[in-house]
Amino acid sequence: MTAFLLDMDGVLYHGKKVLQGALEFVEQVSQHQYLFVTNNPTRSPAQVADRLSRMGFSDVYAEQVLTSADAAALWLRQQKPGFRYFAIGAKALHETLAKAGTEDPQQADFVVVGEGPGLDYEKLTLGINLVLSRKARLVATNPDSSVDSWCKGEAQVLPGGGALVAPFEVATGQKAVVIGKPHRFLYEMATERLGVSPGDCIMVGDRPDTDVAGAAAMGMKTALVRTGRFLPGSSWPKGIARADWDVETLIELQAAFKVAGIFR
Ligand SMILES: [Mg+2]
Repeated sequence: MTAFLLDMDGVLYHGKKVLQGALEFVEQVSQHQYLFVTNNPTRSPAQVADRLSRMGFSDVYAEQVLTSADAAALWLRQQKPGFRYFAIGAKALHETLAKAGTEDPQQADFVVVGEGPGLDYEKLTLGINLVLSRKARLVATNPDSSVDSWCKGEAQVLPGGGALVAPFEVATGQKAVVIGKPHRFLYEMATERLGVSPGDCIMVGDRPDTDVAGAAAMGMKTALVRTGRFLPGSSWPKGIARADWDVETLIELQAAFKVAGIFR
């Protein structure tokens, strides 16, 4: 049976607005194994589930949400059980890592950079020196250069995980291990949690360069909806494999999945 990985922003909602057909689509998906997957490491799974519930999605639980912060914690534990870390980012990242490892800015095995507030001159200095003198590995929860946000009703762009880890990479000359899409680790943690193989998964996303490219490289099937950053009429980016389904909305995708016998 097909399992689903669902991106959220640009697929299920845009800002505070639930996108057309999203509630019905998730209801169909919930007959299958599925996870909501997000590169955003600033909200905990419980916060994401709560937000989805308030938007009208029914029966959403924290266990069905995998963030890049969760995937980072799982990956770090696989690398080194009982790992020590120094983390920079929002509260949710610190809380997630604390469940899997031990915060130890003096003897960290990993310097983990997420998104949100926290980066300053002192933390940058400490992180750089952990990488250079303690051979700590630099890890980024996600590679996004920027993220869209709202502040008091105004659209705003915030620095993404890729922007925040960049000063560490420049100063140390080392490339970070990146967990989030399009890199493989978030997808691997998702399939491991569901107990399915990538070939049985369909990734539904709104970005060819991250959602689709990363999932296709894992051997997953891919579906793109053009309700997020990639709009109807945009030509497919060169060098990225076409999505198996490329549609304008989730309403169209639901119909296509019915025709294909994936949805009842
Ligand atoms: Mg998205």
